[in-house]
Amino acid sequence: MKNRIYLRPHHLVCLMSFRGKGYDDVFVSETGKIVKILKTTPNEKLTCITNGCDDVCEHCPERNGKLCKDEFRVSKLDSSFSKILNVREGDNYCFSEICQMTKDKVLIGKFEEICYDCRWIQICRSELLAFRP
Ligand code: SF4
Repeated sequence: MKNRIYLRPHHLVCLMSFRGKGYDDVFVSETGKIVKILKTTPNEKLTCITNGCDDVCEHCPERNGKLCKDEFRVSKLDSSFSKILNVREGDNYCFSEICQMTKDKVLIGKFEEICYDCRWIQICRSELLAFRP
């Protein structure tokens, strides 16, 4: 099992809401494995914040070498969620902390403003609304 899972800041929100949707079957399968590890070890500080491509990007068809094909857009997402969640590169968190931070700090209006053009916005939106109607 991985002893470190590298995540870029906006993926903290994506993974908390992951419901088996994604770019292709390999991406969904590999992301599902990461989420399973995080959920089965909720109190272990396995995750490490990174800037740029992370362990979720690793199997993504939208990755281009060390960058996302849409790096400009996704780095803006990272920057926005870094500020909201107050996370920095190198910080370590367990999954229970990620969920709690997201619940406490990601307000629905701000989330919609940041993620308005994501094709899976309704999944995360439902998750956020479930604990903050
Ligand atoms: S490569 Fe880009 S689209 Fe794919 S998971 Fe990473 S940030 Fe998202």
